[in-house]
Amino acid sequence: MLVEGAILDRDGPRRASVRITSGRVAEVGQPGTLRARREERRIRGIVVPSPVNSHTHLGDAVSTREPPSGPVDQLVVSPDGYKFRLLATSPRKEKILAIRAALRRMRRDGTAAVIDFREEGVEGVRLLRTATRGSGIRTLILGRPLARPVDPDELEELLALADGVGLSSARDESAATRRIIAEACRRNGKRFALHASEAVREPPDSYLTPRPDLLIHLAQATRDDLRAVAEAKVAVTVCPRSNALFGRQPDLQGMEAAGVRMMLGTDNAMFHAPSIWRELEFSYIATRLRGRPVSAAFLARSALVEPYRWLGEPEAATIAPDSPAVPLVLRLPADDPAYQVVTRVTEHLIVRPER
Ligand SMILES: [Zn+2]
Repeated sequence: MLVEGAILDRDGPRRASVRITSGRVAEVGQPGTLRARREERRIRGIVVPSPVNSHTHLGDAVSTREPPSGPVDQLVVSPDGYKFRLLATSPRKEKILAIRAALRRMRRDGTAAVIDFREEGVEGVRLLRTATRGSGIRTLILGRPLARPVDPDELEELLALADGVGLSSARDESAATRRIIAEACRRNGKRFALHASEAVREPPDSYLTPRPDLLIHLAQATRDDLRAVAEAKVAVTVCPRSNALFGRQPDLQGMEAAGVRMMLGTDNAMFHAPSIWRELEFSYIATRLRGRPVSAAFLARSALVEPYRWLGEPEAATIAPDSPAVPLVLRLPADDPAYQVVTRVTEHLIVRPER
């Protein structure tokens, strides 16, 4: 496949022609310099590294009706709230089918990987592993041990299966629990993540010590909090649609100004389709609605570049010959790639080069 247009990757936007062979970048040249081979498909568009959805709760996809309205704590945090009752009463098979449907949708829109917070302890992790098999989406599972005080055996078993732990929030857990879990993650080479400052502001000390690998939300963080997070070099996944549903908005402009390593996620699958493109467009519009605009370039990086840096594979966000990047082609004008990618992508414009 020969793409004439532009590249948007770790090195920013630029005009280019790109040859993609067997799903990988084979050649990159100045615009118009690569000759199409016989029967080679020619496309006009923008070549990007495939996006990563950096925060989901895919198990929630089992919910198919409009959820009741109410505060976020009642709906999705409380152990006897709507979400956990639904998870507890849905058959395992139904949950697996719902997760598979969500993954198929993500695959169609070009998503390469997802970082999921999985509830329901060791069993929950096992269920998600089963559901993702053969999906073509790399899934990082951050599970959650159930026993409090923490049961070391349960935690070890969970960490043997999961890629790490994703906790509900700093204020829902004692300092001792957070420390024990963070240390176990470190020892096992796994990730430690938690929701923070979602419904109410939490002081940065409570979520930066012990140091996590990833924070989710920070919707209530002050600019000083954001500076502390940037200084600690801890990555943050924001989920603006999810926050908006409960009347909140993360300060993306503040994050850009502070130099926060920001990533983007679609959060609870019961509320939002797991489409990173929708999340990008909403984020762009929402910051303007609030009068605190953020750049399209910063948003584009949050889906296409920062997650690969977080995974320790920054070169996977580079469109160049022999790079490990999985390229995606968007049939969009090449003039202003970040703006195009953030505001214009719909499913029919996505071309996923076959491997
Ligand atoms: Zn979440």
